[in-house]
Amino acid sequence: MPQDVYFHEKAERLSRYDLTEYQRRLFKQTLEYAYENSAFYRNSFARLGLTPNDIRGIEDLQRIRFFTTKDDLRANYPFGMLAVPRDEVVEMHASSGTTGTPTLGLHTRKDLDDWGEISARSLVMAGLCQRDVFQITPSLGMFSGGFGFYHGARKVGATIVPASSGFSKRQIQFMIDFGTTMLSAIVSYAFRLAEVAQEMGIDPAKDTKVRKGIFGSEIWTREMKQKISRLWDLEPYDVYGFTELYGPGVGNDCRMHDGLHMWEDHFLVEVIDPRTAELVSPEEEGELVFTTLTKEAMPLIRYRSRDISKLYASTSCDCGRTHRRYGQIKARSDDMLKMSGVNFWPSEIESVLLKEHDLGSEYRITIDRVNSIDRMSIEVESRERIDSQKLREDLAKKLSADLHSILLFSPEIAIVDPNSLPRVEVGKSIRVIDQRKNT
Ligand SMILES: [Zn+2]
Repeated sequence: MPQDVYFHEKAERLSRYDLTEYQRRLFKQTLEYAYENSAFYRNSFARLGLTPNDIRGIEDLQRIRFFTTKDDLRANYPFGMLAVPRDEVVEMHASSGTTGTPTLGLHTRKDLDDWGEISARSLVMAGLCQRDVFQITPSLGMFSGGFGFYHGARKVGATIVPASSGFSKRQIQFMIDFGTTMLSAIVSYAFRLAEVAQEMGIDPAKDTKVRKGIFGSEIWTREMKQKISRLWDLEPYDVYGFTELYGPGVGNDCRMHDGLHMWEDHFLVEVIDPRTAELVSPEEEGELVFTTLTKEAMPLIRYRSRDISKLYASTSCDCGRTHRRYGQIKARSDDMLKMSGVNFWPSEIESVLLKEHDLGSEYRITIDRVNSIDRMSIEVESRERIDSQKLREDLAKKLSADLHSILLFSPEIAIVDPNSLPRVEVGKSIRVIDQRKNT
């Protein structure tokens, strides 16, 4: 049994009583602070005919009958959500949204310090220590991924290789030259890097020193974790965060790999039914809603993340941390697919595909509508080239039948050669193409 190591033991192991008291105090302060310093929140309270004085404490959270949404942030782009003078902002990031106005994360010096603190706690939870050579492969730019790891690793004191995104061959070369021991990446890029290494005649599991990894920013299944684990011979850790709420470091899974600890001394979290916006019970799935407790530049009250998960009922964990756990993100509420009256998440399809030993990790789901009927086709790469047409057909038939049990219809499956689907070198993979949106 490994010894538990913490970045900030006192904060990570606060008693539930102390944690709740701390939250209670910070929550009241946040409401008053936002009301006094943000026109957006003053107006939001005024519309309800309330002031923060009417809210006794966390028990009254649901009396604040408004949510903050991504649309609110976009409507107030770029600096309309600020609660400090613009010149107190020392760093900013933008969401990787592909269309329209981005959503921003704006940070004062203190915010950056807090972000570094929670990111450091998460990195240490995933095994980072001062002796490590830590390679950052998410971009160090407007995307908050790279800098989130950077600010945390600075606090831990590891040797940082700020390689940023892309240039995969060079990434591998750095790994070999500098003796990288821990890797951070967007989930799909961990695969891409392994592929490139293999093309260079390098086995990531044997020929590199990378034995620790922290991954995030995309929804990933247990099956995908197992694949990454085998390719790199490491134990993958799952980090959570998004730009409006700092970035990576909001939560992380511990060595028990049973849910992620949320840093409750910085965030208050609720789970709601995304359709009715009503609160759901612990262990019930819904959308995570965050209230920041320490944010200066851009405090957020009841911010809808669109991420679907569940809060654990239990408040203890064998790793010794007392911060509440939530399930790995199952989906983004925007990503739910509906076909022939059935609702499902793309991750449910991925689970079936990745369980199959003869398949690789890349796939593409295309949905279109022909003569008013929805159709789904899935291209999936085989692990090695399959020359026999019959073997391909048999495998496709088996997958189609397996998927039928989830989808209640049979998608069309094409087994394609390894390395034939497009790869993403920078940013997140696009694995679902819904052409119905264009018709
Ligand atoms: Zn734990």
